[in-house]
Amino acid sequence: MDTRVGIIGAGPAGLLLGRILQANGIDTVIIEQRSQAYINARIRAGVLEQGTVDTLREYDVAERLNREGLPHDDMKLFWDGARHSIPMIGDHGRQLTTYGQNKIVEDLVNLREKDGLPLIFEAEVTAIEGLPDNPVIHYTKDGVAHTLRCEFVAGCDGYHGAARKHIPDAARHSFEKEFPFAWFGILAEAESSGETRGFGHTTRGLAVSSSRGPDISRLYLQVDPEFDANSMTDDQIWDELDLRLKNQYGQKVSRGPIIDKAVARLRAFVCEKLHYGRLALAGDACHIVPPSGAKGLNLACGDVRLLSEAIVALLKNNDARLLERYDALALSRIWPTVHWSCLMSEAFHLFPGQSEFDTRRQYQTLNHWAYNETGQRWFRESMLGLPFPRY
Ligand SMILES: Cc1cc2nc3c(=O)[nH]c(=O)nc-3n(C[C@H](O)[C@H](O)[C@H](O)COP(=O)(O)OP(=O)(O)OC[C@H]3O[C@@H](n4cnc5c(N)ncnc54)[C@H](O)[C@@H]3O)c2cc1C
Repeated sequence: MDTRVGIIGAGPAGLLLGRILQANGIDTVIIEQRSQAYINARIRAGVLEQGTVDTLREYDVAERLNREGLPHDDMKLFWDGARHSIPMIGDHGRQLTTYGQNKIVEDLVNLREKDGLPLIFEAEVTAIEGLPDNPVIHYTKDGVAHTLRCEFVAGCDGYHGAARKHIPDAARHSFEKEFPFAWFGILAEAESSGETRGFGHTTRGLAVSSSRGPDISRLYLQVDPEFDANSMTDDQIWDELDLRLKNQYGQKVSRGPIIDKAVARLRAFVCEKLHYGRLALAGDACHIVPPSGAKGLNLACGDVRLLSEAIVALLKNNDARLLERYDALALSRIWPTVHWSCLMSEAFHLFPGQSEFDTRRQYQTLNHWAYNETGQRWFRESMLGLPFPRY
């Protein structure tokens, strides 16, 4: 064997899995198609559930998170000209924390480098041979073909990755929904004012304003799926944000240099077969949630906790029973979370051809979440996320 576990993908799922297996004395090699600079700069998620924060603390990845993470006490929603604040502290002090996904990735890569563990950048996995029992990963680096023989392969390579297609078609059972809009996300060197912060349904489409640090704000606009991120000047972007986000007193969004722009289509996807022999999937490789629930990264961490335990049992004790239970247990958290993320999308976006009647119905959902005791509890618990399942 070249290594015990070959991990495809150095996103949060692959890197965290490598970290947990290392803590359990299991060697891994991570293969990542992008460069180190690219993955460190990739701005994506940033809202962490308590289970994710606790996991990063448990595996000593939280030194910077403890300093820079911003806990949330509440979440602000707005629609139909008014703003509403929903308390966000759950049982036992459970709460959400803002800390950028790019920082988690950078923290994990730095620790892996410090520990001298293999992480091969700019290497693309092209195939996995020998499944179900004797996997060999094929990858190319600098135009040269390589192989990696392993006892187990973890496909943590995202929605477009190579691993999932090695689960036989007949067993995969995939379900997908594409929404007719996208999110245009920007990161700006600007203070995120509490006055305009929040998650909004507006007559011009959804808008979100959040903070990623004292002087960094993350903002989103609902756009068409084909929207080109370079089709608006920075001033036009800020003007549009003001139109959607300014509050009833006319307070506008704080402006500053825009340092990142990206468009993400909204889609939901679940693959119900998470392992095949000695290959298992985790994170976006087996599910995608629309970003409106801020759940993708947290789901990935929940999968990794379960999968790491199953791999440890298999490789240390030759016990495959946890791996056999992995799919069902992970899916017991994946499906409700996908459902919640879709509900958030359906409540806040304007759909093509939407009527006033449809908008009034969305307001009823939002009223229920803001004012009804049961609705508010459901909203809070859904945002805080289901506890990570355990075997
Ligand atoms: C464009 C985009 C924007 C997003 N924005 C938000 C957001 O604003 N808010 C939010 O809450 N969530 C967001 N998400 C969701 C969240 O970021 C993901 O759920 C999270 O990244 C999942 O982590 P992962 O490790 O499973 O997958 P990823 O982070 O996608 O990591 C997979 C890794 O595998 C590598 N890879 C793929 N194929 C191969 C191959 N063949 N060989 C080697 N390596 C390979 C990729 O380069 C990548 O580094 C976004 C996701 C995307 C794709």
